Amino acid sequence: MRSSNELPVIRVLDPDVAARIAAGEVIERPASVVKELIENALDAGATIIQVEAWEGGFALIRVADNGHGIPRDQAPLALARFATSKIQTAEDLGRVRTLGFRGEALPSIAAVARVEILTRTPGETEGTRLIAEEGQCAVHPAASPPGTVVTVRDLFYNTPARRRFLKSPFREAERIRETVYRYALGYPQVAFRLIIDGREVLMTPPGTLLERAAIIWGREVADELIPVSWEAADLHIHGLISRPTLGRASRAFQNFYVNGRPVRSGLLAVALERPYAGRLPAGRYPLAILHIELPPSFVDVNVHPQKAEVRFSQERSVYWGVSQAVQTALASFPYPEGLPTLWPVEEPPPMRRLGEPTMEYSRPPRWRALGQLLQSYILAQSEEGLIVVDQHAAHEQVIFEQLWSGSHSTSLPSPAVLAFSPREAEQLEMELETLRSLGVDIEPFGGNTFVVRALPAPLASVSVHILLNAVLEEIPALRRGGGDPRERIAMRLACAAAVKAGDRLSPEEMQALLDALFEAWSPSTCPHGRPAWFLLSREEIERRFLRR
Ligand code: ADP
Ligand code: MG
Repeated sequence: MRSSNELPVIRVLDPDVAARIAAGEVIERPASVVKELIENALDAGATIIQVEAWEGGFALIRVADNGHGIPRDQAPLALARFATSKIQTAEDLGRVRTLGFRGEALPSIAAVARVEILTRTPGETEGTRLIAEEGQCAVHPAASPPGTVVTVRDLFYNTPARRRFLKSPFREAERIRETVYRYALGYPQVAFRLIIDGREVLMTPPGTLLERAAIIWGREVADELIPVSWEAADLHIHGLISRPTLGRASRAFQNFYVNGRPVRSGLLAVALERPYAGRLPAGRYPLAILHIELPPSFVDVNVHPQKAEVRFSQERSVYWGVSQAVQTALASFPYPEGLPTLWPVEEPPPMRRLGEPTMEYSRPPRWRALGQLLQSYILAQSEEGLIVVDQHAAHEQVIFEQLWSGSHSTSLPSPAVLAFSPREAEQLEMELETLRSLGVDIEPFGGNTFVVRALPAPLASVSVHILLNAVLEEIPALRRGGGDPRERIAMRLACAAAVKAGDRLSPEEMQALLDALFEAWSPSTCPHGRPAWFLLSREEIERRFLRR
């Protein structure tokens, strides 16, 4: 049954669907509440969103929107676990277009705070007030403008340990501001207002992306932004990036949205930064507001508790697309030679006026190596349970990324001279440029011989002979037209240099590999797309021992 005006209907998900989306901790801190409530407002089609926070959000968070509201008869369901109007079946997970889909946010908030929802749909003459406190839920008729106002009081009042663990209200207020800015930059067509401790911090009418950037980042910065618009097959990339005349000391000003969802992604950061290589001084990062639109079936949105990360099924084509899009935008922009000395070291004043958001890429605590299994897998402990790492796949990915992003070269103790058959020599000759771009210092040495003087650091301990033979094995496939030569050769070199199944590793080596994997941009797979690790969760372990 559809309710009035074809509004979406909230339903409790079937247990098997719910089991597939169970996420873990949704509400970590006050900013997570703000994020979830803004997402709900956007999903409800709001064009005006007002956020208010007191005492870092611990005392009060209120998000008001003019979206489609919640019909009275459905209001209690909004607070039920796994109750959502956004998906119904497991298949729907592959076509999520909304920001929410798990039906977990409101109940998770209600579990750690006192929640009040005031709402009215356009078709109702009277609104609804819903009060959820200490596991009880009450529904009353109430006067309400169309839309929804969610008020969250006394956050973490019943979990004092969590409250103590969090930073000062001041720091949490900063995070709330970063969160609101991020959505405001992603949704310029929506008006945002942010009030912190009674002070208006942000007020933006609907506008263009450039106007929005000017409000949030300042006019001087906005003047240095150039548009990106790029399309290939199913992939559409658009937004704004900074000219190479402007860089920031951190990646905090890089905003990526995948189908409208703000995501953190090292992969996208690298793809963005690659075309700037040589244009921006080291240690400076471009600014960006980049939307990546692709069919929802190509994106797995169900991988992160706070939905801050996604997984692409075509990771490399997304990477490539973003780099192409940025490259194209930069190419159309002439930049004078020798500019690096003119880069402003000082941040322009408008940014300071609004304060410097410092969004770090927070990573969970690292994995601890426990031991090796069958001399092929590393067993590690994480916060969530037992991690089983395929040592070869993991090492391959780590080395591949280092090669790909250009690691420094190490000179060999003495140059290696290698002889090949005429045919091999001819093949190798054609890939010399690619090899050099990866950090292999190689030159023809007369006849069918080559001299290698230096290797990229991650390959330094491997025999030159093994490496070049690996390259030669890759060449026939390359000739048949298989992909980007630099990528293919880097993959092959990484494979040759990576530890193998059967190699015994010391505890230090295991830990070093885990740490490196942890820092990788794309740690979940090897370059060929095979998984590099899996998690045996605490829940699953407990289930097997019938403790659950
Ligand atoms: P999800 O967003 O994953 O569906 P939530 O717990 O965040 O789960 O919200 C549950 C349901 O409550 C949503 O599916 C939606 O139907 C309704 N809802 C929540 N917030 C709003 C809002 N601001 N406006 C309209 N409906 C809302
Ligand atoms: Mg939601």
